[in-house]
Amino acid sequence: MRHINSLTNPTVKALRALHERKYRRQSRLFLAEGMRIVMEAIDLGWVPQHFVFLDGRQDDDLVAKLISAAENMGAECLAVSHDVLAKISRKDNPQAVVASFAEKWMPMDEVIKAQALWVALDRVRDPGNLGTIMRSVDAVGGVGVILIGDCTDGFSVEAVRASMGACFNLSLAEATEEAFLDQVKNWQGEIIGTSLLASSDYRLANWTGPKILLMGNEQAGLTDALAAAATQLIRMPMLGRSDSLNLAVATGVALYEHLRHQHPPE
Ligand code: SAM
Repeated sequence: MRHINSLTNPTVKALRALHERKYRRQSRLFLAEGMRIVMEAIDLGWVPQHFVFLDGRQDDDLVAKLISAAENMGAECLAVSHDVLAKISRKDNPQAVVASFAEKWMPMDEVIKAQALWVALDRVRDPGNLGTIMRSVDAVGGVGVILIGDCTDGFSVEAVRASMGACFNLSLAEATEEAFLDQVKNWQGEIIGTSLLASSDYRLANWTGPKILLMGNEQAGLTDALAAAATQLIRMPMLGRSDSLNLAVATGVALYEHLRHQHPPE
């Protein structure tokens, strides 16, 4: 275990840089903050590269347990000052633990083989929406999220935080629109697109079998090409003055309709 108090330590700088997509892409590492999320990741077999904690907390039961697990997995354990932790976290009041992990992306041809429930997001921009959606996909037993086109990063600090650790229990894939359209020609199940223009009420859709739930961009909705690839297009009724639901809310409503059909209440 190393003790670090210097704000200019190279490891500290490298970990802080993981808030930026450019450095995540270079190193293929990302950050997870907080005891619960880091514990969840380790329990699920994710191997931390660095495990950073507030110096002095090593005798807390949970921190000691995490240090021991992280060391056994070969992580570099760093006991750091409050200021160093604040620098890495870019927050005045940082969580007591932060860890870095290697990103995992599932290739699209494997996604197609995993005939289960996926959510595909067309150019999702908001990391909070993405994290919230990952949490909901996990909640209904889905296998993962496909990011289509120019999306916010699934491994950003904000997305990981909003997922509450669900990102560690899911697979993430990314594809250009062209590659996605090409790959889904081999998909055996339904592709359920959601659109304000759709004529079918979501409660009347065919929710049986494996499916990709296809959600549109926050501003522009689904592209015409993606909407055309859907085997069904559904809408949620809008009875008030708002013309659409928030993306993460719309995804949650559809996912729970899926669940209602897979596991009807007894
Ligand atoms: N102006 C956009 C449009 O015309 O589609 C609104 C996009 S909405 C904020 C983001 C995404 O959430 C939509 O593309 C769709 O996938 C889903 N969505 C939101 N409200 C919906 C509804 N009432 N029915 C079906 N999908 C909806």
